[in-house]
Amino acid sequence: MDTPLSIAVIGSGPSGCYIAQSLRRSFPQSEITIYDRLASPFGLVRYGVAPDHQSTKSIQSQFARLFERENVRFAGNIEVGRDISLDQLRNTHHIVVLAAGLPGDRPVGVPGEDLPEVYRAGRLTRLFNAHPLEQTGVPKLGKSVAIIGGGNVSIDVLRMLIKQPEDFVNSDIDDAVLADYVRAPAGRIDLICRSTITNAPSDPVMLAELGRIQGVRFSCPDPIEVAEGAPRTALARAKAVEGLLAIDPGTETRVEVALHFGWAPVSINGDGHVRNVELRSVNDDRRNLHLDADSVVTAVGFDFDDGDWHGLGALKANLESGAMDHGLYRTGWIKRGSRGTIAENRSCAKAVAEEIVASVDALQRQTKPGYGGLPDEVRARAVDYSAWKRVDAAETEAAPGDRSRRKFPSHEHMVAIAHNKLVQTSAGTGAN
Ligand SMILES: Cc1cc2nc3c(=O)[nH]c(=O)nc-3n(C[C@H](O)[C@H](O)[C@H](O)COP(=O)(O)OP(=O)(O)OC[C@H]3O[C@@H](n4cnc5c(N)ncnc54)[C@H](O)[C@@H]3O)c2cc1C
Repeated sequence: MDTPLSIAVIGSGPSGCYIAQSLRRSFPQSEITIYDRLASPFGLVRYGVAPDHQSTKSIQSQFARLFERENVRFAGNIEVGRDISLDQLRNTHHIVVLAAGLPGDRPVGVPGEDLPEVYRAGRLTRLFNAHPLEQTGVPKLGKSVAIIGGGNVSIDVLRMLIKQPEDFVNSDIDDAVLADYVRAPAGRIDLICRSTITNAPSDPVMLAELGRIQGVRFSCPDPIEVAEGAPRTALARAKAVEGLLAIDPGTETRVEVALHFGWAPVSINGDGHVRNVELRSVNDDRRNLHLDADSVVTAVGFDFDDGDWHGLGALKANLESGAMDHGLYRTGWIKRGSRGTIAENRSCAKAVAEEIVASVDALQRQTKPGYGGLPDEVRARAVDYSAWKRVDAAETEAAPGDRSRRKFPSHEHMVAIAHNKLVQTSAGTGAN
């Protein structure tokens, strides 16, 4: 080995953490830094996974060991492309791994998508999760909402919209956003899934969980049919939906939820405002349906955002190789597209780490200083792991009795706490 290996990982979500884990095992002497534009680590585990699914979020404590015990550096509050360029990172580190995820909600691709009451699921889930770069105000959803998309993110959105504040005990939901919504909650929600119940991408357990929420009447206007020889999950999904239909909240009904499987959106209609959604049956394209709606939430996956970070949007999702150029790799959603659970990023990261191990001799000929080679002003703005722990402690302390934490939705506020620069009189600034 010519010089100690320096590794930069861009993004501290699951794929960034998993690849740092693998690379630490392969290169115990290396310097590994995980950069993130946010002041907090863990990406979508903190800001995507629903606030009422704390058991899923608990994987953060596993990732925390990287920074606490495995000598991996966290450098938050550094945005690649703004505070530092990708080339600067490549010039100072032997290996750069992009693990920056996919921030942009994918469009559905139907007319009417630009109407003002059409909202992207990523925006809603970030709002409920108090994402500091999502201070756009709470969308006005109205009495009837159509959710386009049949995956787990659409089920998360549905669950957020049919729960009441008391259903969020022990969550880290943004209470100000929740309060805004429950002032005028939806009374009718249509969930529109293009796939039939056999092929729908939703997890049966997630569907069944909806049945534990009080005051909801479910319907499924089409027969529940599972194709012969269908996998066990399809049968479980059908069973979960049948379980929902068997619930009768009687006079306690607060909200009606209709599940439409096998219907594709054709257009979102309205004269300046959303009025209805037109659907076409995927099995019989002569069958059409118009659903009245005050607003539409689209949940059909994620992609590169409009800024098309470093031109990567031109690259198609690639399952074969993580290598993009000499010393430059990618892993996680930015490699494979917005599919898969947190755990699925682990095998992806392992495979990319193996590619790196195989090519490391060719990468290490030059001396590269790693983190220490970055400009002073970049390192000065970094939120390191101990600084993040100050924010973590402040959030936990600020939590009301029935919440696990109260996330601060202002990036500046988080950085001020991290850097011990919080003026006491403005302690509430940015907090909701
Ligand atoms: C709403 C939602 C709910 C989900 N719920 C679940 C669930 O319950 N269970 C489950 O298993 N999976 C869930 N998933 C899927 C899971 O979150 C993903 O599989 C996983 O987060 C992808 O990991 P990643 O590291 O590739 O991307 P991300 O988690 O998105 O991490 C990317 C990181 O890169 C950082 N970054 C981006 N650009 C830059 C830049 N220019 N400079 C520096 N840093 C940057 C971001 O701030 C972020 O921290 C959910 C996904 C969503 C969207």
